[in-house]
Formats: sequence, structure tokens, C-alpha cells
Amino acid sequence: MEVSARFRDQRLAERLAKKIRALEPREPVRICHVCGTHEWTISHYGIRSLLPDSVEVVAGPGCPVCITPASLIDAAVELALSGVVVATYGDMFRAPGARAPSLYQARAEGADVRVVYSITDAVKMAREEKDREFVFFAIGFETTAPLTAVEVLRRPPDNLSFLVAHRLIPPAMEALANMEDLAIGGFIAPGHVSTIIGAEPYAIFPERYNMPVVIAGFEPLDVLMAIYMLLKQIKDGVAKLENEYTRAVRWRGNERAKEFMRKAFDIADGAWRGLGVIPSSALELKEGLRKHDAIERYGLNVSLDGQGDIPPGCRCHEIMVGRAYPTDCPLFLRACRPNRPIGPCMVSVEGTCRIWALEGGWFKG
Ligand code: SF4
Repeated sequence: MEVSARFRDQRLAERLAKKIRALEPREPVRICHVCGTHEWTISHYGIRSLLPDSVEVVAGPGCPVCITPASLIDAAVELALSGVVVATYGDMFRAPGARAPSLYQARAEGADVRVVYSITDAVKMAREEKDREFVFFAIGFETTAPLTAVEVLRRPPDNLSFLVAHRLIPPAMEALANMEDLAIGGFIAPGHVSTIIGAEPYAIFPERYNMPVVIAGFEPLDVLMAIYMLLKQIKDGVAKLENEYTRAVRWRGNERAKEFMRKAFDIADGAWRGLGVIPSSALELKEGLRKHDAIERYGLNVSLDGQGDIPPGCRCHEIMVGRAYPTDCPLFLRACRPNRPIGPCMVSVEGTCRIWALEGGWFKG
């Protein structure tokens, strides 16, 4: 049997759900994950419907497109409209800016915007079209940042620069842990990111915040097991870092990928769309690589003030920290729908609003 099929076994899921219900806490417990793929699994498989009433699972800022500041999208659109070729991943294409429209609309106005599957495609295009200027809009967490680092360190062509919007997950989790009103009882840490950074960076949560953390894979049994492990810790009155995703995540992660990131980037404070500036949560090109930094090369003025991050009436900034559900937004599935999104959470396949719209994430038994 394939690994993925084993981790979708219905009988095992039912047994695990029974064990979870047996751990039903007396006080409400809020578990937070920080990964669009986890939200998809939870919504698609109706995992919320299997949980006791006192257990809530909310989505944190785990969608890279959703958290990319509108000011950076504005900068990408400005470049595209000025004649630079802008290449980026598919979901970023439709994300709205603050002053400017999306890259999709810029293309409709004649700009050369190209959707690529990987950064390698952008490098290849720049090498083949030496008479054009290219910018790769590099978004994503620790999963995509090493790919950017590799290409930056490999001496990219002179006509290619990078608009770097990479963000780091543990500092965002720490920002959430510090928001006392959220009352997070435990984190499900993202499997993909953890294959790169390892388990080690999450040790601060039990140590500093007395908060349980379980690193989880993406199949329904992974997520159920992580919820079980978190509730067991809570019942036992302990806070530990545990790894459910042992088939992919090691304590120190992928040393090579981390080395590439260390060589290419410095860590800086970074703006997250709708959430403000989170200390030490962004990557920026190292001094010696700045000639490939699009902001410096084109003298772009990118503000960190978050102005225009959230369109009027949109509640993405609350949804991305678990303060609200998509169904709390009056525009959800009315004015804002997957085919005509208003806010960033409805644009991306990893956005909570889009996932709920397509998978019915609100279903609770
Ligand atoms: S439904 Fe649309 S407008 Fe409402 S919070 Fe989600 S993305 Fe924003």
C-alpha cells in the first residue's frame, strides 16, 4: 500500500478520532496550525467534525501569497508596467496590490508577466533573452527560500534581479504566541517547512511559552495524530515539542538547504500582509549579492506601513491569526468568491477563505 493511502485509512481515522474524543478537555482548547496545506487537509476531510466541542482548530498565517505585503505587489506591478519582465509563481499572479492592480491585470494592460513553475525557469528565460530585464518575484517560506538562494549564489545573468519576499515561519508563530487574546493552547507545526529547518527552532515554544508543539505531515491521519498528541500533552499538564512527521523531519533539518540560505540571505524584520512587522521574520539578500536586488537596482520605494494591505470590508488580517473564520466575513461567498476574490485569502489555493469556499471548512458535524 502506498504511504499516502495508509495515512488515509478510514478505520484508523475513526479509531484515532475516538481516542481524541476520550481526551475531551473541560476547558476550551484552541489549536493553531500555520500551513495552507494543513487547512486543506482539515477542511477537505472534515476533520473539525470529528473533534470534541471544546476543541477548536484555527489557521494561522501559513499562506505565502496571503501574507506578501501589498506594497511588494505594487512594486512588482510598477516594474512590469515599466517594461521589465516579471516572473513569479501562479498564485501570486492574481493577488491584489494596494495602489496598483494585480500582476494579472498588469498583463491585461500589456505588461510582460510570466507565470513560472520554478525559479530555474526565470533564470533560463533571462539567459535566453539577454536584451530584456527580468525580475523574479520570490515569495514563500523556508520551503522555497533555499531554491532562490541556490540560484542567487550560482551567479545569475546580469539582466535578472530578485524581488525577495521570503518570510520565516517560527518568528510568525512566536508573534502569535505573544498575542495573549488568541489564547493558543498548542501549535501544529508545518511539515514542509520543518523538513528544511528541522524540529530544533520550535523548542522555544515549550521552553519560553509553555506551549505544546507537534510537527505534522499532511495526510488526514498525520493531522489527527498531531491533534491527539497535543491534547494528550494538555491533559497531562506538560508542554513538549514532538515530531509526528518522523518520516520526513529530522532534528536539524536539511543542513545543505540551510547553508544555502545562510550564504545568500541576512535575516531582517519583515512586514506580513495585514499583520504588521514581525521581528527577524524576513530574508534579504546579503550585501555582496545586492546587485541582484530588484529594490536597489530599480530604486523602488517599498513601504512597510501596511497601508492598503486589506481591502475595505475584508477580514483576512483576522482570519490569518485565527481571530475570525471566513464565515464571519459578510463578503464570504457573496461579494468575495474564488472566481472574483476581494482579499488575498480568497486568491491563493493556500488561502483559508478559498479553501473554505471550495472544501466547506466550516463543517462541524
Ligand atoms: S471572504 Fe474575501 S473579503 Fe472576506 S475575509 Fe475572505 S478574502 Fe477577505
